[in-house]
Amino acid sequence: MAKAATARGLRVLGFAEHAPLAPELDGWHMPRSEFPAYVAEVEEARARHSELEILLGLEVDYLPGVQGLVEEFCAQPCIDYVIGSVHYIDGWNFDSEEGRWEWDVRDRAAAYRRYYQLVRELARGGGFEIVGHLDLPKKFGYRMPPEVWDEVEQTLQVIRQEGLALELNTAGLRVEVGEAYPETRILRRAAELGIPLTLGTDAHDPQHVASDLDWAIRQLADVGCREVVYFRKRSPVVVPLQRMLA
Ligand code: FE
Repeated sequence: MAKAATARGLRVLGFAEHAPLAPELDGWHMPRSEFPAYVAEVEEARARHSELEILLGLEVDYLPGVQGLVEEFCAQPCIDYVIGSVHYIDGWNFDSEEGRWEWDVRDRAAAYRRYYQLVRELARGGGFEIVGHLDLPKKFGYRMPPEVWDEVEQTLQVIRQEGLALELNTAGLRVEVGEAYPETRILRRAAELGIPLTLGTDAHDPQHVASDLDWAIRQLADVGCREVVYFRKRSPVVVPLQRMLA
């Protein structure tokens, strides 16, 4: 990952493994016992790639009632930043291949409403810096019905009140929906509200490191954003967008 980042001209690379859950669901989160190995690998990458600033992050899942372990993990001093994300609607992993069929039988507006309600709960709970892939439910092309927009607006208001940053995540360009998270209209509204924006490619493989990042930087400029934020030891570092465009 670090080698790919350097080859593609990045100066800063953040790792954000899925934080352990208790109890584990579906087997895709990092087991608790593997955390020291994760830290050691990131430190090894740092030692080998002094040309890069390498950040140690986590992506936490929001599941009502199972936040204890997450908080314990996220409070560790080695962590630079935490992304808070919702991948489950009341036990339904709506962004997984196994769960996608449910989109065909669910009331889509109700699913979106519940999703945004969970994102607001996550945001109000705190303990993290960045809201991840905000409109993830569109992943398989089941787009948000227009009448749900008020939920998006409310959610952005909460994100602003809580002082959280929002991620522009290019992974959506690589899946069925073919569009980054969040969609332009949401990103523009976030920029208007002065919500700090950060960049992510959600690379699960070196080939996706920096994927569509040039596009993403231009997209930020197009929606009126002037700076990008990232987090080092839980504190914001602000980079003028002009510098990234150059
Ligand atoms: Fe995620």
